[in-house]
Amino acid sequence: MSSTRPSSEPLVTLDGSRGEGGGQILRTALTLSLLTGRPFRVSKIRANRDKPGLRPQHKAAVDAAAMLGRAEVLGCEVGSRDLVFRPGRVEPRDLTIDIGTAGATGMVLQTLHLPLAMRSETARRLTLIGGTFNPKAPPFPFLDRTWRAHLANLGLPVALAMPAAGFYPRGGGRLEAWIEPASPKPWVRTTRGDLTRVRGVAGSANLPDHVAERMRDRALARLADAGLNVDVDIETAAWPSIGQGAAISLAAEHAGTPPATFVGVGERGKPAERVADEAVDELLGFLGVPDAAVDHHSADQILLPLALAEGRSIYTVSAVTEHLRTNALTIRAFLDRPIEVEEPLAEDQPGRVVVG
Ligand code: AMP
Repeated sequence: MSSTRPSSEPLVTLDGSRGEGGGQILRTALTLSLLTGRPFRVSKIRANRDKPGLRPQHKAAVDAAAMLGRAEVLGCEVGSRDLVFRPGRVEPRDLTIDIGTAGATGMVLQTLHLPLAMRSETARRLTLIGGTFNPKAPPFPFLDRTWRAHLANLGLPVALAMPAAGFYPRGGGRLEAWIEPASPKPWVRTTRGDLTRVRGVAGSANLPDHVAERMRDRALARLADAGLNVDVDIETAAWPSIGQGAAISLAAEHAGTPPATFVGVGERGKPAERVADEAVDELLGFLGVPDAAVDHHSADQILLPLALAEGRSIYTVSAVTEHLRTNALTIRAFLDRPIEVEEPLAEDQPGRVVVG
């Protein structure tokens, strides 16, 4: 376990281009390095991405993890493809981190959450400034409705607030988290109950009202066409922000499982209707796998706390993604824990994850 001095244990070596090859390899490694005290080296960071190497939100996550864990770090510049991280002792504290761009605040939150929860004796407050609605990252409504509900099931209470929304390119969004001291418990769920309702928010910042209204109306029309037999309730919101942007979130609520939230994020030139279609398509895809307890985004995100929980966890997932497979590989590099990811047998069948 960690001492006050940076660890001199052998490095865990990771190939950052393996599998999904994104920032998740680095974020999972940072979290596990802080919690196990094991140093790591990751090479070929995001080697196959459009802009390879560390992006500002990855650098922010490394800097914050290094501060929290008094780590020695080599290669932490934007663009760097090779990084060594040697943690010392985790010293939990309240933190405010400005990513400086529209980089995803949710990813920095997910990197620091477990070390703060598992190594603190009192609640910690994390304030993150950057993007709150990024494509290909957990957006705020997903974190608040879905990630938080999963964490509550695992015995990890977190409160979240978004006093300002942040969109590409200006960023400036604000995500606040209050993280209670806790350790994860295992979780078993291989079915889901009936759909009880769909709740959504169509929101925009500094754009005409019709943008949010058109996203809402399109989602309502598509969900009516799909013949959902439940209440669908979508409110509109005007978010404070220094920039412009729009997004719609749709949460499918089923008896007995955390809501599954799907988010469409607007961009310049993308019609409001298409933004709504993206969220609706994802939601209908999830509904098309009736025995999946967990949506495909949460599937890779709950794996890390469950791998740290004592005892067996089993959950069914609507799709087995490359993110899920890759996260299992990264976790196994640090923890001596069997993790099985079972592929679905047919398109309407769930996959299954067993942490043994
Ligand atoms: P990476 O591409 O390696 O940086 O990892 C992306 C992370 O963001 C993964 O944990 C995904 O599950 C998560 N993610 C991507 N898109 C969404 C979304 N729309 N909602 C929730 N999580 C997402």
